[in-house]
Amino acid sequence: MPIIAVLPGDGIGPEVTREALRVLAALRADLECVEAPVGGAALELGLPPLPDETRALCARSDAILFGSVGLPKYDGAPMAQRPEAALFALRSGFELYANLRPVRVFPGLEAASSLRPELVRGLDLVVVRELTGGIYFGAKETRIENGVEVASDTMLYRAPEIERIVRTGFELARRRRKHLTSVDKENVLDTSRLWRRVVLRIAPEYPDVRLDHLLVDNAAMQLVRRPADFDVIVTENMFGDILSDEAAIVTGSIGTLPSASLGAKGKPGRQFGMYEPIGGTAPDIMGKGVANPTASILSAAMLLRLSLDDDANAGRIERAVEAVYASGKRTADVAAGQPSLSTTAFADAVIAEM
Ligand code: NAD
Repeated sequence: MPIIAVLPGDGIGPEVTREALRVLAALRADLECVEAPVGGAALELGLPPLPDETRALCARSDAILFGSVGLPKYDGAPMAQRPEAALFALRSGFELYANLRPVRVFPGLEAASSLRPELVRGLDLVVVRELTGGIYFGAKETRIENGVEVASDTMLYRAPEIERIVRTGFELARRRRKHLTSVDKENVLDTSRLWRRVVLRIAPEYPDVRLDHLLVDNAAMQLVRRPADFDVIVTENMFGDILSDEAAIVTGSIGTLPSASLGAKGKPGRQFGMYEPIGGTAPDIMGKGVANPTASILSAAMLLRLSLDDDANAGRIERAVEAVYASGKRTADVAAGQPSLSTTAFADAVIAEM
């Protein structure tokens, strides 16, 4: 029986995670979903942001369904006492090296974008971001040199770290529209030149995937000029951080976007991963029952597909969400002032559609 560690967290985290669990339960009776505290919810119990029991549960699970963590009351607390510390501990503890962010505009939601509707119609791309290497993890130094403040951050990549994320990109492209865009800055950076060599070395293994390369500055432009032309984008940590936020925001609706962070560890034959909405705890709407559960429901679909190899049910969830939007049903965040459904009523509509 597959075990899912359910970590709802804070704010709207529990509200949307509950709905994703109902969707999963409607499709699969064989999942053992075990809930555990994380973030502020753990701190409230006098525990650290990632309690040992929660970590142990994750370690024996096939996947983690995560809500979100962080509330204004913890702003200013030392890092170890902040809910967000749990995220870093999970990412590094389970070596979650590949962050996948699918970005889709559902038919009918084009007007929510800050771009013209015709530019985002049919937009359906995935940003694959390397998550455990690069400049965020390299050596850092701040010093005084000849009376002047100096700071440096080191961007370091090893070929195997690039290989595994690039393979994730190729494999994903193979399952989609077979188009991979590798983003780097090879005209300036040694790490990018290594990145490109590795991509070119691996490419012959995927003759069915069309590969192109973009410099990161150009990629940032093309994402707002012709976003619907992209299928899978693979890139290093910092470029991916920036580009995935840019890509997400062109949809205009943060409550609809799921994510997966895939790990190096896992049970044999199983891809371990953590699945969560890209948005945060939304303190401004928590407790009101109006949060959009789409991101969490689609995160559950990604969990089924990527960690449990259950394409069929993942597809059923995705098609149901699409059909609900096509029928005009909306939560308040994307209703543009029109009548809207509660969090639970929206999930009910998805379940009914399935
Ligand atoms: P946020 O994503 O929580 O909210 C930004 C805006 O988007 C708000 O207006 C919010 O109401 C709206 N929103 C977000 N998700 C929504 C949903 N599902 N339905 C409807 N509206 C939604 O970002 P923030 O306000 O900058 O951060 C709030 C807290 O969340 C902070 O403590 C931050 O650290 C934390 N956070 C956590 C994660 C995570 O756990 N991975 C990610 C981002 C932010």
